[in-house]
Amino acid sequence: MSNFQSKIEVETTANSITKIYEKLQTKISTLRKARDRPLTISEKILIGHLAENIDFNSYDVLVRGKSYVILNPDRVALQDVTGQMTILQFMLAGLKRTAVPTTVHCDHLIQARLRSDLDTKAALYENNEVYQFLESASRKYGMGFWKPGAGIIHQVVLENYAFPGGLMIGTDSHTPNAGGLGMLAIGVGGLDAAEVMAGMSWEILYPKRIGVYLTGELNRWASPKDVILSVASKLTVSGGTNAIIEYFGPGARTVSCTGKATITNMGAEIGATCSVFSYDKRMETYLRATGRSAIADLANKHVDLLTQDQQIEEKICENRENSINYFDQLIEIDLSSLEPYIVGPHTPDLARPISKMAEDIKKYNYLDTISVALIGSCTNSSYEDMSRAADVAEQAREKGIKTKVPLQVTPGSEMIRATIERDGQMELLKDIGANVLANACGPCIGQWSRPELKKGEPNTIITSYNRNFPGRNDGRRETMNFIGSPELVIALALGGRLSFSPLTDELTAKDGTSFKLNPPKKAPEIPENGFKDVKDIYVPPADDPESVEVSINKNSDRLQKLEPFPKWDDKDFEKLPILAKVSGKCTTDQISPAGPWLMYRGHLDKISDNLLLGAVNAYHDGEVGSGKNTLNDKIESFPHIAREYKKRALKWIIVGDNNYGEGSSREHAAMTPRYLGCAAVVARSFARIHETNLKKQGVLALTFGDPMDYSKIMEDDRISIIGLNSLRPTKPVNCILHHVNGREEVLSLLHSYNESQLEWFRAGSALNILHAKEEAPD
Ligand code: SF4
Repeated sequence: MSNFQSKIEVETTANSITKIYEKLQTKISTLRKARDRPLTISEKILIGHLAENIDFNSYDVLVRGKSYVILNPDRVALQDVTGQMTILQFMLAGLKRTAVPTTVHCDHLIQARLRSDLDTKAALYENNEVYQFLESASRKYGMGFWKPGAGIIHQVVLENYAFPGGLMIGTDSHTPNAGGLGMLAIGVGGLDAAEVMAGMSWEILYPKRIGVYLTGELNRWASPKDVILSVASKLTVSGGTNAIIEYFGPGARTVSCTGKATITNMGAEIGATCSVFSYDKRMETYLRATGRSAIADLANKHVDLLTQDQQIEEKICENRENSINYFDQLIEIDLSSLEPYIVGPHTPDLARPISKMAEDIKKYNYLDTISVALIGSCTNSSYEDMSRAADVAEQAREKGIKTKVPLQVTPGSEMIRATIERDGQMELLKDIGANVLANACGPCIGQWSRPELKKGEPNTIITSYNRNFPGRNDGRRETMNFIGSPELVIALALGGRLSFSPLTDELTAKDGTSFKLNPPKKAPEIPENGFKDVKDIYVPPADDPESVEVSINKNSDRLQKLEPFPKWDDKDFEKLPILAKVSGKCTTDQISPAGPWLMYRGHLDKISDNLLLGAVNAYHDGEVGSGKNTLNDKIESFPHIAREYKKRALKWIIVGDNNYGEGSSREHAAMTPRYLGCAAVVARSFARIHETNLKKQGVLALTFGDPMDYSKIMEDDRISIIGLNSLRPTKPVNCILHHVNGREEVLSLLHSYNESQLEWFRAGSALNILHAKEEAPD
């Protein structure tokens, strides 16, 4: 099967999009009647996807940053690491097919070692059972399966599935890439995705709105990448938290669709829920070039639903202060005067224009010599990006020079790779020394083997990727990673130094003369001769799903079929030991660390061996990852102790500090404690997503009525949580603290369960309820 969907598939998709637009129309008209004011694009899409009718006249609904909304997403996208547990959980629900269109993308597991063909072959061998599982499950449950080598999830989604006005969730933080095609696309945890795949709605904090008003037009070395790097420098890594970033203004309409996707992709770096542009001609061009004219025609008929109301831009153009009527914050960027940026190391908001880079290198003692330059990834490997990078390469080739440092290219998709191979950009890059890696994540996610680098050796790399926290690219914290646009990365690879500025510095040609690089020419946003149609990259759902068996080897240490968690036994929790009392920050990454555990994401038993390995014990001088085993009084690792308790059918408790479970929405952080016998987590406060994940997995999530009670809990105490049969929304829960000296204290605990969430607890998990519904006779 090829990268272009058949005419029939596009028409089928267009028919379902027609229904989505009808719903948008109805909901938006109702909102307009209640609130007579212009609407932004994110408001329209969110309202259009509400799962239930709400009273728009009420003042406590749609309160930005405060109230919650329940939505029905249109699509789900899964990648091959997080997708494993998502599908295993979906299977627990017992459905025959996914309730919403879903695709699976094999991109994260290919390790970059030598070059594309060899690396893909090695990945096929090493991850064979995971790929077999994903493919067989996709065929059985009606999901589209994109093979290893087909491309990176977000690029493939943009090329095939994103559409203006849609709402998508994906189990990857850069899902917002599809905002470049006018879609609200949001990264979520695997359990959220599994539930939506199983037909449940999805709840989200009604987000704040940050407007980015773009004027002017990009020119010379400045590119879409520099727009988002500039926004990141203004908002910082947490500035977008719980907000949707909406780009608008005359400048927005000058940026190509794929350029917009680069900008929305990297909204993840500032913590934004997602980012979005209104539908425009550039999106229409891209839809038509990727074989989706029927969808472009449909979008053209519904422009009013897919764009910010015009009055907003007019009012803000008149007076910036008018923005308070529509946005919580406004940023303005004049594209015409934007300089190219370099950000890093180690954080994407450490930004400076290239003209200031040399100064920063001296000031902060950064290593000037570049060890490797890398372009591509899901963020920056569009036809336009590669054409501008190739323009710089061509200038070097004409002067007979090559890059001074190794240059790696990771194309975003096979369609892009084949098209730039055909149109000559790849040849130009190879001519100056580029090596082409697989169409996969590779060095963007630590899947990069660098045997030439000595252990602990500090070095500088420059990439056009999106993330640069320590260890992100090659697993080595000493690697200092800087980020810039692809064309800038090529220029720096030719200069060989981080301090090289193509704006001012000269290179030496083969004949010894000096020359300056010209800014890359304006590049075509789509290929003149169309994108190349490539085959054998996609496996559709099976016509006879009943005959497909999902492939899970019983002896595998990568995959394990999930068993439903047991129902609550109607009994109070009596005198349970405390596995861990955690002190200070405890993120989901501290509860269920990543790194080497990445390969066990599909095997609950195996990955449970990482439980709380990053958590700081409130006792024993802040010991990390271990505590006292009450069975033998020895200090042992938390997962080991939990397993000992589990063996004896002994339930146990975690005591958390403030904002327990902050960070990513990783569901393993709730599943592994539940699997090993955690009955309850009692914390000073919870990060909301983790609290919901605990509830969904059947772990009782409680908070201290008086946060000071946290300090009353001693290491050897036993805890009873009583009156569970009369658990009700808003009603406090009683807890008895049994101190080792026989003294008892009664504490009042609080919870945020509503009635249906209490059902999750009683049933053993949220998915058990879905499963029971499926089993029930009609
Ligand atoms: S290329 Fe990088 S950012 Fe994109 S999906 Fe892969 S790992 Fe994530």
